Amino acid sequence: MKKNKPTGFTTRAVHEGRGYVGSTGAVMPPVYLTSTFAQGNPDGFDYTRSGNPNFRLLEQSAATLEGAAYATCFASGVSAITAVVTSLKSGDLVFAEENIYGCTYRMFERVFGKFGVRAQYADLSRPENWDQISAAKPTLVWLESPTNPLLKILDIAGISQLGFPVVVDNTFASPYLQRPLALGATLSLSSTTKYVNGHSDCLGGLVATNDLTWHKRMVFAQKALGLQPSPFDAWLTTRGQRTLALRMERHCANALALAAWLEKQPRVKWVRYPFLPSHPQHTLAKRQMSGGSGIITIELDGDVLAFCRKLQLFTLAESLGGVESLVCHPATMTHAGVPKPVREAVGITDNVVRFSVGIEDVADLLADIEQAL
Ligand SMILES: *Cc1c(COP(=O)(O)O)cnc(C)c1O
Repeated sequence: MKKNKPTGFTTRAVHEGRGYVGSTGAVMPPVYLTSTFAQGNPDGFDYTRSGNPNFRLLEQSAATLEGAAYATCFASGVSAITAVVTSLKSGDLVFAEENIYGCTYRMFERVFGKFGVRAQYADLSRPENWDQISAAKPTLVWLESPTNPLLKILDIAGISQLGFPVVVDNTFASPYLQRPLALGATLSLSSTTKYVNGHSDCLGGLVATNDLTWHKRMVFAQKALGLQPSPFDAWLTTRGQRTLALRMERHCANALALAAWLEKQPRVKWVRYPFLPSHPQHTLAKRQMSGGSGIITIELDGDVLAFCRKLQLFTLAESLGGVESLVCHPATMTHAGVPKPVREAVGITDNVVRFSVGIEDVADLLADIEQAL
């Protein structure tokens, strides 16, 4: 029989990363709980900081899903960011979208700045600001789309065409909805803690690329900086990936229905959701993503923390992308590390609320928000 490589996203998600069954017939891989390996083994493993069969399985399946030649896994999204930025040197410039994830901003300002890596920011959802990138000639352009928590959509293809290496933090979309490398980015980075693992039971990060030089830097950072995940976390993430497509479809459907309903509520000042026609970059979102994902951001008229506490199905918690619904108050939680004037300048006021819409029955989620309003 002719052996074709399966092309469907979900088929690949289910079938990649199932090797290492040996002679047991096990359908799923074991967890390789070993710190070290006997020298001279045929697969070339030596020490788990620099490689473990569970990493290899995760990296193989992640690369296929990202449409990438290579992928490297890390202990967390922040470890993945550390791997990328520590590949730069003193004096290099990162030109970043101004509404990046709070911890990324904090790392640029309070960690990498000390080592001489400079960061410059602009609102990159406005093409008229792209001239600033060309003028600054950065070593790396740092994008995130959709952004956290304002869900701005950046034109990945347009910005990649400026000719500078581009990294896209793809955490909010996941490779099921958006594949940055196909749009021209050099690196696609994810916190797999969120949608890719999807069950809020482990942390992880991933960088995918088609560029061999960048891939070697990622492999070096994984072992040289000790940024590797545990074999069990890599195993959990591989398992999560298998249901990514199904979960994303439900997250998208639930979020779209809730967002449309929220827009009609008098206590809600505005609703931001990429697949609502009211979103400022709705056309672009439809072009570069195949769904709006599961995050909705609103500005509420009233006591925001009282509203959050009244919700029963949405737990007030950091993080997002799990099967369960969460609610977050960015000003005191995810973006507490960003100075208030900087926060407010980009639109994250104290009344902004972010929902991570889970895969529950949407009627229950709607009823919960309704009683809390
Ligand atoms: C959570 C998150 C990160 C950091 O990932 P961790 O796994 O928490 O270290 C980076 N970027 C975005 C957009 C995130 O949401």
